[in-house]
Amino acid sequence: MAEVESRPTNFIRQIIDKDLETGLHSSVHTRFPPEPNGYLHIGHAKSICLNFGIAQDYQGTCNLRFDDTNPEKEDIDYVNAIKEDVSWLGYQWDGEVRYSSNYFDQLFGYAKELINKGLAYVDFSTQEAMREMRGSLTEPGQLSPYRDSSPEENLALFEKMAAGDFKEGECCLRAKIDMASPFMCMRDPVIYRVRFAHHHQTGDKWCIYPMYDFTHCISDAIENISHSLCTLEFQDNRRLYDWVIDNISVEATPKQYEFSRLNLEYTVLSKRKLIQLVEEKHVSGWDDPRMPTIAGIRRRGYTPTSVREFCSRIGVTKQDNVVEMGVLESCIRDDLNENAPRAMAVLEPVKLIIENFEGDVEWLDAPNHPSKEEMGTRKIPFSKEVWIEKDDFREEANKKYKRLVLGKEVRLRNAYVIKAERIEKDENGEVTTIYCTYDPDTLGKAPADGRKVKGVIHWVAAKQAVPAEFRLYDRLFNVENPNKVELAEALNPNSLTVIQGFVEPSIKDVEIGVGMQFERTGYFCRDKDSSEALPVYNRTVALRDTWAKMGE
Ligand code: ATP
Ligand code: MG
Repeated sequence: MAEVESRPTNFIRQIIDKDLETGLHSSVHTRFPPEPNGYLHIGHAKSICLNFGIAQDYQGTCNLRFDDTNPEKEDIDYVNAIKEDVSWLGYQWDGEVRYSSNYFDQLFGYAKELINKGLAYVDFSTQEAMREMRGSLTEPGQLSPYRDSSPEENLALFEKMAAGDFKEGECCLRAKIDMASPFMCMRDPVIYRVRFAHHHQTGDKWCIYPMYDFTHCISDAIENISHSLCTLEFQDNRRLYDWVIDNISVEATPKQYEFSRLNLEYTVLSKRKLIQLVEEKHVSGWDDPRMPTIAGIRRRGYTPTSVREFCSRIGVTKQDNVVEMGVLESCIRDDLNENAPRAMAVLEPVKLIIENFEGDVEWLDAPNHPSKEEMGTRKIPFSKEVWIEKDDFREEANKKYKRLVLGKEVRLRNAYVIKAERIEKDENGEVTTIYCTYDPDTLGKAPADGRKVKGVIHWVAAKQAVPAEFRLYDRLFNVENPNKVELAEALNPNSLTVIQGFVEPSIKDVEIGVGMQFERTGYFCRDKDSSEALPVYNRTVALRDTWAKMGE
């Protein structure tokens, strides 16, 4: 990443500063540890920016480690999508991608170490019995009848587990900690279970798989992670994390720190719920531009810079909160306002004929950005027939309406002043054609006789314009917190509007995903669904914040 972004400090950076100062660590090693069981969402972006951002700023390193201990739910396609998303955000992981499964041999060894120390045992209790013996928040648990079997016995049983001698659910390996602990995760947690599942990395080598809590801390230790950053729901698990590290012979002693998850209004940030949206076909896929996935917002037209800026604006704390959608939108709006070239497109066209225009076509120069001359100009065709927005014409209107009114004048953006002379309507009373005259002496200047023309509207020349499809997006859910309700019922039926209009010819072949401002209508980018005959444009965001008033 070339540009330097200023990042505000936060409690984690303060801890790191102190650890470097006191010499507890001489360098910073972080990691981003996704489970490859779905696509990344904007919440993950917060964690990515935090982990990679810290590594960058402290000249440390950040690993990308797939936390792949649930083979049934994981998939190599998710691995690839996650790699693409992290790279797109502008970050480079240290060395090769890592997998917890790289450490399965070592994890197996550490499990045996715990057994040898009398700190783990193979339990044949049924899952139901184990649940009953766990106790509750107010009552201690009961000791399993298998808890006191000898290390030798346990070792032999564990080897048999690994050899495939037991069925799934028949037994498991548990850490022997404290059945009376106020932290439920310390009541002899399961650390290995039997699963006859094919693994996307290790194939059929294993039929026992380690649990997350056991795997995560050891993987951090093996990779020499100095600061293991995760979200608050793992706060209690830190006890177990530390217990494992303390009781096995690893050299590094990584420490875990927790921060609050990102929650965003009017959307869901949970892979389980996002999978549901995809599987039940409420959206077109993981990269549907209405999805809060990184793939979705990328397709929608968000830039990596805007997502990093968002993560910087929301900050990192331990307080739970819900961020307004407007915060995310203002980040992309600010970026595109500054950097996106301008063009003209008419989304809901009505024909306008300039009766006194002579000749075929006149090519005009239009600036690509109103305040950045260095972005250059482009040629736009002007001719006798143009399209304007239906909404930009009225037969009658008061002074507040600064667009075209019958008998009055308006300026066509980057072109001339026109006057609406008469109209034609269809049998339903809809205006089909607006007949105008233009003042040829108004290109780039006000009318010579001092007439005041206030309004400016956008347009495209009918003959040269390219037919296009526009996809306009609204919030995916109608309720502020869709996590609390049945997903399907909370969906906004009008989250996607597809309309057909025209764009100026200069942008016909613009690259997919590159943001543009269609003047007066919003920021758009070309979608991958475009064909030679019909380009498709996604509206990334409207020109102004529409969320504020929606909430009222
Ligand atoms: P989900 O609940 O969406 O399934 P997860 O926590 O199970 O997410 P992981 O793949 O395990 O997803 O997450 C990888 C990292 O991203 C973890 O460190 C996790 O804490 C972090 N993370 C996940 N969701 C958020 C969020 N909403 N805000 C901040 N960080 C998050
Ligand atoms: Mg998880």
